[in-house]
Amino acid sequence: MFPPFTLRYAHLPARFYESFKPVPVPDPRLVAFNKPLAEALGFDLVNFDAEEAAVWFSGNVVPQGAEPLAQAYAGHQFGGFVPRLGDGRAVLLGEVTGRDGKLRDIQLKGAGRTPFSRGGDGRAPLGPVLREYLVSEAMHAMGIPSTRALAAVTTGERVVRGLPEPGAILTRVASSHIRVGTFQYFAARGDIEGVRELAEHVIERHYPELDAGQEGERYLSLLEAVMARQAALIAKWMGVGFIHGVMNTDNTAVSGETIDFGPCAFMEQYEPQTVFSSIDEGGRYAYANQPRIAQWNLARLAETLLPLIDDDADEAVAQATELLQRFPERYEAEWLAVMRAKLGLEQALPEDEALIEALLTAMQRGHADFTLTFRRLADVAVSAEAKAGLVALFERPEEMSAWLADWEERLDKESCTAGERAKRMRQANPAFIPRNHRVQQAITAAMEENDYSLFETLLEVVTHPFDDQPGREEYSRPAEPSEQVFRTFCGT
Ligand code: AMP
Ligand code: MG
Repeated sequence: MFPPFTLRYAHLPARFYESFKPVPVPDPRLVAFNKPLAEALGFDLVNFDAEEAAVWFSGNVVPQGAEPLAQAYAGHQFGGFVPRLGDGRAVLLGEVTGRDGKLRDIQLKGAGRTPFSRGGDGRAPLGPVLREYLVSEAMHAMGIPSTRALAAVTTGERVVRGLPEPGAILTRVASSHIRVGTFQYFAARGDIEGVRELAEHVIERHYPELDAGQEGERYLSLLEAVMARQAALIAKWMGVGFIHGVMNTDNTAVSGETIDFGPCAFMEQYEPQTVFSSIDEGGRYAYANQPRIAQWNLARLAETLLPLIDDDADEAVAQATELLQRFPERYEAEWLAVMRAKLGLEQALPEDEALIEALLTAMQRGHADFTLTFRRLADVAVSAEAKAGLVALFERPEEMSAWLADWEERLDKESCTAGERAKRMRQANPAFIPRNHRVQQAITAAMEENDYSLFETLLEVVTHPFDDQPGREEYSRPAEPSEQVFRTFCGT
């Protein structure tokens, strides 16, 4: 069933990981399987059998050629450094080469206690597994770099998180699971050779274009390349109202993919200070803080690379600082590109930023739903009648009407037809996101009634975010007051 493994991480020095076999579970059952992804990865599905698949995706049997391991990493959690975190409940089986020729990790999350588990049980509850499945696949469908979900199994065991819940294992696919915290792990031990080997591995895997170049320059270029991908990624998050919730350095992948969907959530009413995570008491990871936090995390990556950038410590700091200071500018450019696309603007004009800010201000003051505002704006691009539906989202409709007049004036400077514009705007403004209350309903039905139909429908809806999907309009609507989710949990 599995394609052949190409072991890469397992061939890095032994101190990069702990070899570890998944701990068997009593009664594995396949509850979700991503067939298109499996096909793209080269899985053989000819004699696909769900019972057999459950055995593989629970880790009860290790596929031939895999050398399971738990990766070592450190990380800053809410600003405080923890020198040894590592995969406490995840096992990397190995890497496979997809039909696109790219290498990807296959990891089982929830596979049992590893040498990095500390006080944890090494397991995952079903709720967070289904949440990660839905949200990571929705992100991918929206064109946002993300780890993917290949399969989910229940284990037949209960895990205790306050109350006992069904246990589950998620099979996660990533272009790698290397984090800023992986670099920190070696740097914290003064293991400069470890940092260098990791950097070389990352360049080969994610940034092969940096292959040439002199020593110091090469690692500075790596920092710059990671920075560019983070800037692009966070701008995309901001463009769909995504709040990661735990942007710790151990949850920041150097590949530029979104990783570790814990208490993540999508904002409904536009409010920049929105926080959902129950553990984020200070609002460190609020929606509006995400770009700044990304820069902070990149500074932590930079620190680990300093000895490789220049033998002269002051010189290394000067070069890295100069680079990091360009992050806001870089991010701003990415964000403007995202927002211009959302507003249907092809040309870049200096007045655009003020126009975008004015819309956001109107949305905040009018408590308008983030997703619906932009989607309806795409409707307005072709039909003046759609205006009523858009301004109705605002508690101060007159403010939005005034903004629309400014927007229309700005559109006069564009050359494309209204029809083309609307088409492009619909590809930049999803109609469907995994709304928190829908995710919650799907999880509750699966957990309490063993009913996966809501999960399956929601998955279908959110993996076609830009289509209208007649009959599924309900899924585009924000939560009613009684349905609202105010707090989300890590689920660990
Ligand atoms: P997370 O909050 O999921 O990003 O995890 C932070 C750290 O805690 C990582 O080192 C995880 O491997 C570890 N961890 C999270 N949940 C568990 C668990 N149930 N058992 C053992 N380790 C865990
Ligand atoms: Mg994590």
